[in-house]
Amino acid sequence: MENIFAGVKLWALLFTVLAIAACGGGTADQSQDGNQEDQLLTVVTTVSPITSIVENIGGSRIRLEGVVPEGVNSHTFEPVPSMAKLMSEADLIIINGLFLEEPTLALAESNKRDDAVILSLGDQAVTKENWQFDFTFPEAAGHPNPHLWPDPNLGLRYAELVYDQLVAMDPKNAEYYAKNLAGFRVRVKQLDEAIRAAVATVPEQNRKLLTYHDSWAYFAKQYGMEVIGAVQPSNFSQPSVKEVAGLIDQVKSLGLPAVFGSEVFPSDVLEAIARESDAQFVDDLADDDLPGKPGDPEHSYLGLMRQNLVVMIPALGGDASVMADVDVRNVFDGPSGAIYPQ
Ligand SMILES: [Zn+2]
Repeated sequence: MENIFAGVKLWALLFTVLAIAACGGGTADQSQDGNQEDQLLTVVTTVSPITSIVENIGGSRIRLEGVVPEGVNSHTFEPVPSMAKLMSEADLIIINGLFLEEPTLALAESNKRDDAVILSLGDQAVTKENWQFDFTFPEAAGHPNPHLWPDPNLGLRYAELVYDQLVAMDPKNAEYYAKNLAGFRVRVKQLDEAIRAAVATVPEQNRKLLTYHDSWAYFAKQYGMEVIGAVQPSNFSQPSVKEVAGLIDQVKSLGLPAVFGSEVFPSDVLEAIARESDAQFVDDLADDDLPGKPGDPEHSYLGLMRQNLVVMIPALGGDASVMADVDVRNVFDGPSGAIYPQ
């Protein structure tokens, strides 16, 4: 009997131990996850299209936070001093470069750890020979148009540069990053083909852009469109009366059906140009304000570009229905926890 009791006790003990182990399993996993969390690269980015591209490659294996809130003027954005702490915690700081985020770059440089890396995508994606200068970004000032990403081929180049950097700093997740890059490449290719097809439906004489904010230089070059001008001067003030008169003449003589404003830069001037030249005023192109809100499937770099084409192409007399099939969701499974300041 004693043996049986001892056996029962032993079973009870074993059961208890197993139960504790099972319950404790959660705790053990959590602490393991916690350790993995601690090992995640901390990546800080600037504007939301770049945050989205980085999110697509890094997925849930990096800790990612953007700095520039959506819907603000990224060209004049001044980081608040509290961002110094974020910079000091970063392993990797990814910016567009090409003089877009000078105050943020200065803050990063003076607060980052010695071993932290600053990756300037725009400076690596194109050589100086490919820099575009225009009305808002005149060659005399020496700062090229920094908006490379509206050309999705350059957006893909950004993704490749991000991939190279993540693999260099975090080789144990190389396979995961490679899978994400491969998926992203497929989506960009699909987007690129859809843009080509959509632009092809625009009457040739209408493949011209007059925008308020000058962010379409690289896009236009890629897709055979012409940027005939931008309204916003290089100091982000208002254009002169003479410049406005010149633009009205230009839109009239070209018979342009539409001119394009931006949500971030409301422009009475462009509206007046549209009115005087009988063009439609389309006020919702965006270069860094992602559609929807964080967590929405269309709140992505690819979603931003799809949305721009849906706005632009019909206004110029074309058909953007091909854009509806473009998959703009993030390529990795599950939420990444990336922070997009609003
Ligand atoms: Zn811009």
